[in-house]
Amino acid sequence: MKKILIIEDEKDIARMIDYNLKKEGYSTVLTHDGPAGVAAAARERPDLVILDLMLPGLDGLEVCRRLKKDDKTSGIAIIMLTAKSGETDRVVGLEMGADDYVAKPFSVRELLARVKAVLRRVSDKNEEREIYRSGDLLIDSSKVLVLVKNRPIELTAKEFELLRALVKAKGRVVSREGLLDLVWGIDAALELQTRTVDVHIMTLRKKLKSEGGRIVTVKNYGYRFET
Ligand code: CA
Repeated sequence: MKKILIIEDEKDIARMIDYNLKKEGYSTVLTHDGPAGVAAAARERPDLVILDLMLPGLDGLEVCRRLKKDDKTSGIAIIMLTAKSGETDRVVGLEMGADDYVAKPFSVRELLARVKAVLRRVSDKNEEREIYRSGDLLIDSSKVLVLVKNRPIELTAKEFELLRALVKAKGRVVSREGLLDLVWGIDAALELQTRTVDVHIMTLRKKLKSEGGRIVTVKNYGYRFET
């Protein structure tokens, strides 16, 4: 059972989130201020933290920073609850390592969808220690290493994740929207253009040299990786 820590000082909202997560089969821990939240994260080791931005004691950004800095808690996924107008907070939060955010006021359905998506991404990341080898290409996910003809290829994090997402699809076509969601996250999928995917695919193909041609464009839809 996945465990979720809620750090939210508005008791009604906290209770509402708690109730709905439990109904979905998650186990929950509830705290109402920053310091208690940080302590509970270290003690309970949840899979995910739902973190309000405005909190007494320590604000959400500071809580996020502390969780990501500590080895014991750095692997925990974080969804931030932000104000609708808090563009800067969202950006800072995501830069600090939050995995997603939900703007207040939010619907229960939206929050649950994000919780599910973030937990899925995290478990995908954790289970990936496999080595993929095909033709002149070798991808070692545990080392974030790509070799073409035994020569290491320098990829950005996003390029690496794109390549891995395509290879994982085992020859199936993945839509550009699907790639945005898989690689950039559901938040970005709403704000970024699918063109972002195209631009990254272009540089990825170039860097993969002789293997680049295996990323096939499926017109007006997405991409697939020739296995
Ligand atoms: Ca608050």
